[in-house]
Amino acid sequence: MAQRHKVTDFHGIIMYRKDYQERDLLVKMLTLEHGKKMFFVRGAKKRGFKLTGDILPFTYGHYVGDIREEGLSYVNASKATEHFSHISEDIFKNAYATYIMSLLDFAFPDSEPIPEWYDKLHAGMGLIDQGLDAAVIANIFEVQLLPVFGVQPELRGCVICGESKPPLDYSESYGGLLCPRHYHMDPRRLHLDQRTVFYLRQFSVLDLATLNSIAVKTETKKHLRRFLDQIYNDTVGVHPKSKRFIDQMNEWESPLTPDSD
Ligand SMILES: [Zn+2]
Repeated sequence: MAQRHKVTDFHGIIMYRKDYQERDLLVKMLTLEHGKKMFFVRGAKKRGFKLTGDILPFTYGHYVGDIREEGLSYVNASKATEHFSHISEDIFKNAYATYIMSLLDFAFPDSEPIPEWYDKLHAGMGLIDQGLDAAVIANIFEVQLLPVFGVQPELRGCVICGESKPPLDYSESYGGLLCPRHYHMDPRRLHLDQRTVFYLRQFSVLDLATLNSIAVKTETKKHLRRFLDQIYNDTVGVHPKSKRFIDQMNEWESPLTPDSD
């Protein structure tokens, strides 16, 4: 039976690249039309390779290629590509952008079309590139990916009675918020401050495509980081290598950034 070849136009965002033999690269892209795909790019490391600029990290655009249902796909040409250049120039932006991509890589199988996540990734990378706080953008992805990882925290209101007015706290054993009348249900509730609860609830419903500014205090960012680390460690169980690098960066940074509130 003839193998099906599908030379087609597609939109893609470069997720990562891996050396493959001496002159070739494997390039993972999130495509709008076909989900995540691994591309074999022959001769990619040769000088003067025609697609060099189109397959750099943090590049996105309109490509032409042979999309295979199974195994490796091929990029033949690019029609128009752009580059998130501020991300590649900045070690912090780079680290958070890489972490977001590795979360998406863990969260979805290859070849499953996820156009809404293509749009989110494109928007999120654009925001980091424009200078919005990369740590907060990563938090938004972490919160919105929880249901994909099978954790559906109830953030609309108290899991027992539905009360949605603050104060509210988070209970890991109930997988959601508790109101003061039901705090006693979980003696190990997390005692989150209300600002952290506020942002968690906002992040879970926020549309990245319409976001244009965000300012979260240093102290609240630390609390969000601690909460999300706890959920990701205890419940999700996904630990990309890029996250360890972010943890190290935060350790270098912490003596220089006293709490602001
Ligand atoms: Zn309640």
